[in-house]
Amino acid sequence: MDLKTNEGVAAFFTQMHDRFGYVPKKWGHKRHLFASASQIGLCSKKQKYMMERGGVVIDDDRPEAWGVFARGDTSEEWHVGVCHRAQLNQFGGPETGLKFQFLGEDQITVIDEARRLSATPDGIMWLRGEPILLEFKSIDPRVTLDGPKDQHRRQVLFGMGIMNAVHKIKPRRALIVYLDCSNYAVISTFMVDYDEVEIGALIDRAMLIHNTPLDEVTAEGAVFNTGECAHCQFAEMCKEGVAAKAETLDEDTRFDEETLELIDELADKRWRAMHKENLAKIDKDDSTGKIRMMLDGANAAYAMTERYSIRQSHVAGRETCDWKRAVADGVDLSDYVTRSNGSVRLSVRRRTDV
Ligand code: SF4
Repeated sequence: MDLKTNEGVAAFFTQMHDRFGYVPKKWGHKRHLFASASQIGLCSKKQKYMMERGGVVIDDDRPEAWGVFARGDTSEEWHVGVCHRAQLNQFGGPETGLKFQFLGEDQITVIDEARRLSATPDGIMWLRGEPILLEFKSIDPRVTLDGPKDQHRRQVLFGMGIMNAVHKIKPRRALIVYLDCSNYAVISTFMVDYDEVEIGALIDRAMLIHNTPLDEVTAEGAVFNTGECAHCQFAEMCKEGVAAKAETLDEDTRFDEETLELIDELADKRWRAMHKENLAKIDKDDSTGKIRMMLDGANAAYAMTERYSIRQSHVAGRETCDWKRAVADGVDLSDYVTRSNGSVRLSVRRRTDV
């Protein structure tokens, strides 16, 4: 690297940034051995992979991945500063008794050793003697929230559950604060109440993940199509596992009456949902066509109504390649062809005799 050249200096800085851009948090416990609050909302199989993989904070194969961790940490530091200044200035007056605990460098991890559960809340806010669990998140400004994200809701519930079980401070409410990562002046806040039933279900979920062998843990991301698989670092391994399991499926399994009834109900629910989906698509296509005709009739590219902003624009056609024809014409593409592991397809056909 020639530091006399402009390119050399720029490359030097880029390498320095890659190396020192993010200093991962140090954990006092072997985090991968515990079902943690921040992960309990993720796909069960992904959590199990993380446990089995061991203590890796950042995926070395994807150095670009540290950005999201850094964003989370810097936004948390911002909140810690805000909270300290508010406490110093007795914001709200002495009657609120505003006080913060376990913020920033004083952050603690609460551990339920017996059940191997852990939670690391971002802090506790004391208001009129009540401890309120705090969770700070940063959010992309393009995301609109009308409630907390499900994963974060589960995180604070799980955290409250663990604190109530093993810690002397027992919060019954939590506050999730989303910081707009493009404008730190903008926050969205949501309260979450303690919910015994939901917390119990989350702890059962954690125990199930602990006690089930990896190849038997449900690949929830794929099964429920949650969108997690697209960015999952275990996707390749997981696909192989799903394909291998599909090979072992038995055509002649006999179910008891009760299970069959349940499957029937779910299949019926699915069938009705598909029917609604088809009708919705017809409605959608019909409205699209009518709007386009009205805009075209007025030679308009844009319309703003009370509730919607509507634009029509030209989208360039996608490039496609008819590789089958190319092969038929004698082009050797074998070096460029790979086959994915496939996925398991569920087809539900309505029987006409019932
Ligand atoms: S690929 Fe999908 S289903 Fe598999 S572990 Fe990752 S998120 Fe879960």
